[in-house]
Amino acid sequence: MSVLVYTESWKGNFRKSTFEAVSYASETAKLLGTDVVALSFGEVTDDELAKLGNYGASKVLSANGISKGDSQATSNLFAEHATDASIIIFASSYTSKMIAPRLAIKLKAGISSNVISLPSNTSPLQVSRKAFSGKAIEKTIINTDKAILTLAPNAFGLVESGGNCSIEKIGGSQKGDVNIKGDEIASGKVSLAEAEIIVSGGRGLKGAENWGMIEELADLLGAATACSKPVADIGWRPHDEHVGQTGKAVAPNLYIAIGISGAIQHLAGVNSSKVMVVINTDPEAPFFKAADYGIIGDAFQVVPKLIEEIKKFKN
Ligand SMILES: Cc1cc2nc3c(=O)[nH]c(=O)nc-3n(C[C@H](O)[C@H](O)[C@H](O)COP(=O)(O)OP(=O)(O)OC[C@H]3O[C@@H](n4cnc5c(N)ncnc54)[C@H](O)[C@@H]3O)c2cc1C
Repeated sequence: MSVLVYTESWKGNFRKSTFEAVSYASETAKLLGTDVVALSFGEVTDDELAKLGNYGASKVLSANGISKGDSQATSNLFAEHATDASIIIFASSYTSKMIAPRLAIKLKAGISSNVISLPSNTSPLQVSRKAFSGKAIEKTIINTDKAILTLAPNAFGLVESGGNCSIEKIGGSQKGDVNIKGDEIASGKVSLAEAEIIVSGGRGLKGAENWGMIEELADLLGAATACSKPVADIGWRPHDEHVGQTGKAVAPNLYIAIGISGAIQHLAGVNSSKVMVVINTDPEAPFFKAADYGIIGDAFQVVPKLIEEIKKFKN
């Protein structure tokens, strides 16, 4: 019985969330006294696959011929290689949301999402997960023989073990009913899901033309850009930047909210951030109650000063 982990790559490179999932799988495997087997779909070089050994995988099964976006073909092949697995781990992503539930049906496995802890018990499997938009923590027991866990973003961290893994090629070029013609990042240089720092703007920024300073600040910090829902609805920013209850849930180390009031629906998607900094003219803005640091001030004065100081600091 092994611990199986789904790995996700972008343009041939594994995502940080994948190394986190393999680290989690490795710590879980230690509890069970077993090994970690990683499954990779899509074109990934052997050098990149070998990196998974450093996070605790002892074996990698690589299906180069299958598009990682083809959730039907992926979950079919995945199920074939999951017969020996007792626990299957996914990072949280759009792709894992497509594959994990299909796999759960195929394997008759119990599934728990948004997991934030290592198993506190392995028989039956017990984990903690975030519930109610991060406002509550739920203890879940999975009673089925096989269990699928999808991890909350940035909940676990990376654990390097310095190990090596064997690589085995699997599968042919199976296709499901979904034909993926190509994929590309919709906007922004840093992916929101992977971002350590996020600079986010709200309606207080008055218009799309004022996002230059947000992008400049994000560039300087190596951050991703995000926005509140009305900003995406009006069309000042693309919808894939919208964070909150009805947008993406993010959990960066640093979330900088500029001209955002901090409505409960916005906070629901960002309140797992480790540190929150809020810039707002209104001292009564609800965001200040949730913030770690607050600047009461006009974004059009504060942000250029921040940019200037960061440039000086970097020089
Ligand atoms: C079912 C439902 C789901 C929702 N889902 C989401 C969601 O997922 N994400 C989300 O964001 N919202 C969501 N909303 C909307 C949410 O309720 C708020 O309306 C929205 O978050 C407000 O966006 P905002 O803070 O950008 O705008 P506003 O509420 O207009 O706030 C703008 C803020 O900018 C400040 N400001 C103004 N000028 C400046 C300046 N020059 N410098 C600095 N600060 C300034 C103001 O003081 C104010 O606090 C949802 C609502 C509903 C009903």
